[in-house]
Amino acid sequence: MQDDSFIPNENIAPVRHRRRASTRTRLLVTAAVAVAGLGLGGVAVAAAGTDDDGTPPAAAEFDAQARAEAASRADRSARDSATPTPASPSPSVSASPTAKPTASAKPKATTKPKPKKTTKPKPTWVNPMKGATITSCYGPRWGVLHAGIDFAMPAGTPVRAAFGGTVEKAGDVGDGYGISVVVNHGNGYLTHYAHLSTAKVGVGDKVAAGETIGLEGSTGDSTGPHLHFEVHQGQLWNQIDPAPFLRARGIDVAC
Ligand SMILES: [Zn+2]
Repeated sequence: MQDDSFIPNENIAPVRHRRRASTRTRLLVTAAVAVAGLGLGGVAVAAAGTDDDGTPPAAAEFDAQARAEAASRADRSARDSATPTPASPSPSVSASPTAKPTASAKPKATTKPKPKKTTKPKPTWVNPMKGATITSCYGPRWGVLHAGIDFAMPAGTPVRAAFGGTVEKAGDVGDGYGISVVVNHGNGYLTHYAHLSTAKVGVGDKVAAGETIGLEGSTGDSTGPHLHFEVHQGQLWNQIDPAPFLRARGIDVAC
């Protein structure tokens, strides 16, 4: 099949060649006639005849060149006439910048951020029984850990919440602490007030720092009126030393 399609091409080629040759001879004849008539330039025409089939090469080249130039000119003019059209709306666009500066100037004026300092008073811790004598600190005592600080004052002295929070325990549950109150401060810490003569708050009550939550007494396992104060960290009954804890919050206790 490949040979079949190849053969016709070979057959056409010689034919074209022959036809070409015949035109060339015809041209040479015409050239010869021209030479006879003019006497000049015949050699040039004859020599040129070997290059082209019918039309003189110079004329053909010029013709093709002229046509191409004309086409490109037309193309250019078409392009040139096309470009101005989208270009004409641009002036109206460039006219708008006069309005733009005023618009861009506005955000610049408002870019000055005024950092509003919320002068909210920082919640402070208070001494649960200010002016009391410290009779026992946190640490081992009589073979067991004394898990709080003892504050001594005359019986009935108000006991204040060291910090704001919610009452989690209030009353005597028979655990040796007597009438005691636990306040959950909601920040990972709880405070415990024990041996009270009376509790002034109930479970679920919201209390503020310095608010009276009970009165000093000697209920539970106690040898005399005093406030047993504890700080629980993270969870109830995880007592830590209240002295450094309070000192870090501006309350100095003699421990
Ligand atoms: Zn104690």
